[in-house]
Amino acid sequence: MPIANPTLANDPAAITALAEAVCAGTTISSSDALELLSVDEASPAGAALFAGAQRIRDHFIGKTLKCCSVLNVKAGNCSENCSYCAQASGVAATTYQKHKFLPDEDIRQAASSAAANGAQALGLVAAWWGVKEGSQLDMVCDAVKSLKDAGGVRPDVNLGILESQHCADRLRQAGVAVYGHNLETARSFFDNICTTHSYEERLKTVQYIKQSGMGLCSGGIFGMGESPAQRVEFLEQLRFLEPDMIPLNFLNPIAGTKLGHLAPLPAGDGFVTLATARFMLPDRNLMAAGGKEVVFADRLGEIFKTGINAVMVGNYLTTLGTAPEFWVEAARRHGLRMPRTVTAISPPGGGCAERAEQPGRASAA
Ligand code: SF4
Repeated sequence: MPIANPTLANDPAAITALAEAVCAGTTISSSDALELLSVDEASPAGAALFAGAQRIRDHFIGKTLKCCSVLNVKAGNCSENCSYCAQASGVAATTYQKHKFLPDEDIRQAASSAAANGAQALGLVAAWWGVKEGSQLDMVCDAVKSLKDAGGVRPDVNLGILESQHCADRLRQAGVAVYGHNLETARSFFDNICTTHSYEERLKTVQYIKQSGMGLCSGGIFGMGESPAQRVEFLEQLRFLEPDMIPLNFLNPIAGTKLGHLAPLPAGDGFVTLATARFMLPDRNLMAAGGKEVVFADRLGEIFKTGINAVMVGNYLTTLGTAPEFWVEAARRHGLRMPRTVTAISPPGGGCAERAEQPGRASAA
């Protein structure tokens, strides 16, 4: 029976055709993306959306997943006021332990355990505005060199705002393959989540990262109160920047943070948002990162139906994650493979790292 007032959002055949068009090189419009965001996950259109997202992933990227872990090398007492973050200035969260920059030995130990968990990369994340030239930058470069010499996982960093091209170049020379620096959300919503630094500073940092030759890992967080149109705006910005890895986090509302009163996104909304991201960013590495346990709960194992091709394994910066065995089994059920080796960075369809995290995430990154 024909559907009254058919739109893309309730037309499975049109969604399937759109997925094929994306595979053939079509870029979807913002109005189509908005329609996809309103698909009912439990409807035939929802089934077509997820099937299309997997078709696009398999076409551009294949069936081998990518995994990473993060390590909070400097935790707490951040100067910034990111409203989702347990480490933000003035937040008295007790979900993690504050500490200064970790000694070399602790970082090497974390690298061994990340490798044992199946991670290809370990992102060193610091809670501060950004890394400063001088002794601070020297200290980070030493840690990166030490991690690189140890082997096992690729050393990535997420150190917040970069103040100069020179800073980025030094990190690159020290051996950083990938710099994580999230946009967090749409430009039009950014002032609602942070006022101690600007969206423009983030974009400038992205520019330094790209010019240095380091890989770019950049994504953001859904469920902070942004509108569907702002989700599309955010994904369009990412489409323009072409990060090698895009961590997609979900707000995990932590008591004491400014967004602690919000409810987590419904699981259906989360699945539809991830699948829409795959339609919009067909050849990018999309990683389900922080907050997924809270949003998807006992449906977490379904997450690969959305066309993502990467997951964060191990714990987050200030909250617990999911055991690696869970991901191995969930991947197997979806016909996907977990990697066991370190890969070099290679954007579309290739390696890259990840890095991201989330509430209690870090860095003006
Ligand atoms: S997200 Fe990063 S920059 Fe923002 S408050 Fe948290 S640690 Fe600081």
